[in-house]
Amino acid sequence: MSDCLFCKIIAGEIPSKKVYEDELVYAFEDIAPTAPVHFLVIPKQHISKLSDVTEENSAVIAHIYEVIAKIAKENEAMKDGYRVVSNCGESAGQSVFHIHFHVLAGRPLTWPAG
Ligand code: C5P
Repeated sequence: MSDCLFCKIIAGEIPSKKVYEDELVYAFEDIAPTAPVHFLVIPKQHISKLSDVTEENSAVIAHIYEVIAKIAKENEAMKDGYRVVSNCGESAGQSVFHIHFHVLAGRPLTWPAG
């Protein structure tokens, strides 16, 4: 989508600090980190939000979780655990409408989320 911020990051039109990339997904450091480890994993295909995941496009979501597990195995700061969050809709805190998975680690993470 031409007016989507994260599509522009994937296209290299907006700079980002790459964590991982393959043919299906892109991962990059969050610009405003809330933990020592805070990166976002996004599909290269534009999906707006979790509630738009369907039987047709869900394979990339499974792939995202495989990628996160792979990154975690290689990142010492994630060895004690990590959190994956995807906010769906404005009321849940979603501000960018290209589905993304926050990966947080490196400090004690409290629960429940606010
Ligand atoms: O869940 P939510 O939609 O609010 O998350 C969007 C995230 O995208 C924020 O954590 C924000 O810091 C991040 N962001 C970014 N780079 C940008 C714009 C937003 O990492 N250029």
